[in-house]
Amino acid sequence: MGKILGIIGGGQLGMMLTEAAKKMPERISKIIVLDPNDDCPASQVGAEQIIADFKDKDAIIELSKKSDIITYEIESGDSDILKSVEKNAQINPSPETLKIIQDKFLQKSFLSENNIPVPDFIKIDSIDDVREGLKSYGYPALLKARRDAYDGRGNYKINSEEEIKKAYEYFKGQKLLLEKFVPFKMEVSVIAARNTHGQIKTYPLVENIHERNILRETIAPARVTSEVTKKAETIAEKIMDVLKGAGIFGIEMFLTQENEIIINEIAPRVHNSGHHSLQSSETSQFEQHLRAILGLELGNTKLLRNTIMYNILGNLDFSGEYKTPQITGEGLFLKMYGKKISKPLRKLGHINIVGLNGESIDVLLEKLKTIKHKTIVIPSD
Ligand code: AMP
Repeated sequence: MGKILGIIGGGQLGMMLTEAAKKMPERISKIIVLDPNDDCPASQVGAEQIIADFKDKDAIIELSKKSDIITYEIESGDSDILKSVEKNAQINPSPETLKIIQDKFLQKSFLSENNIPVPDFIKIDSIDDVREGLKSYGYPALLKARRDAYDGRGNYKINSEEEIKKAYEYFKGQKLLLEKFVPFKMEVSVIAARNTHGQIKTYPLVENIHERNILRETIAPARVTSEVTKKAETIAEKIMDVLKGAGIFGIEMFLTQENEIIINEIAPRVHNSGHHSLQSSETSQFEQHLRAILGLELGNTKLLRNTIMYNILGNLDFSGEYKTPQITGEGLFLKMYGKKISKPLRKLGHINIVGLNGESIDVLLEKLKTIKHKTIVIPSD
C-alpha cells in the first residue's frame, strides 16, 4: 500500500512534487496539500486540498491525521505546531531543522558555529543597533527580516546614513538582522539531498542570475573552474553533515572576487534553481525529494545535458488575467504553473532550454535570446 503524502503549500513547488508523486503510485497513493488559495497549482494536477493558512493549527492537525508523511514547499510553517503533530505523521525535513532554517539569524548563527562561511551579520533589536552595525560594515549593507521573507522581499539595501530610518521603518517591528554586503562575482547554488537513512547526494553547481532580488535564470552547470565547483560541493556536503532531516536542501552561495564561497542561505525544500533537473538529469529534484523522505535509495544526480532555466515572471506593469505564453521547439520545455492571475514579478512558469544534442551553454544562451520576447506576459483580451 502506498503512503499518503501531506504537503504544506500547494504552489508551483507543491505542484511539481505532486506530479512526481503521481509517477510512483505504488509508493504514494494520495497527495494532500494545505494551501490558502482555492484551486492552487498542486490541486490542479490531482492533489486534494485543505484550504487554510499555512500556519492554521487545526488545519495542520487535520493534515497530519490524514497523512503518513508530511513535507513542505515553503519554510514558513509553524515548527512548534509541526513538532506537536509528529505523533500523527513523519515530518521531513524535521521541525527542528525547519526552526533553525526559517529564522535567518538562527540559520547564520548555526552555520558559523559549524565553521561554514557566511557574510558578517548581527542581530538587530533597535535602530541604534543598525547604526552601530553600519559603523563596522560600512555601506551598502543589508537589513533583513529574520523570518517569512522570500524572493528578496524581506531585504532592504541601505546605501547611506540617510536611508537608515526608512529601512528600519520598512520592516514595521519585524525581527531583523543586519548583514555585510558581499561584492560577489557570481551567485551559485547546490541542490543537495539526504534520505532518511543518511545517504547524501548533491547535484552539480549551477549559476544563478537574479533581477530585482528574484531568480531569473539558472545556468547548469555554472561557468566556473573545477576548483570552484569542488570547493562549493565540499561546503554543501559539510552543511548536509551538520543539518538534520531528510529531503532536498537548496543551498544558495556567493562566489567572491577571490573565488571563495560564502553561504547566502539554505532553503529546506525543493528550490527554483533546481528546476533544470526536470530535463537535465535522470532524477528530478522533485522525485529526489520524495525518494529522500520515503527512505529510498537516492537517484542519479549527474548533469546529463547542459540546460538553462528561465523564469516566466509577471510583468511589472500589470495585474490580472494573462495570455499563456506559447513557446515550442526542439529542446524547449515550457512549464506553466496554472496561476490565473499575473502580478508584478509573480512566478508564473519557467522554460528549460536543453542541450539535447550536446549544445554548449553559449549556444543555449543564444537560443534564449531568440525566445525571450515570447516569455513576456501580456494581458488576455
Ligand atoms: P535573500 O532573499 O536573502 O537570499 O537575498 C536575495 C538576493 O539579495 C540574493 O540572491 C542576493 O542577490 C542579494 N543579497 C542578499 N544578501 C546579500 C549580501 N549579504 N550581499 C550582497 N547581496 C546580497
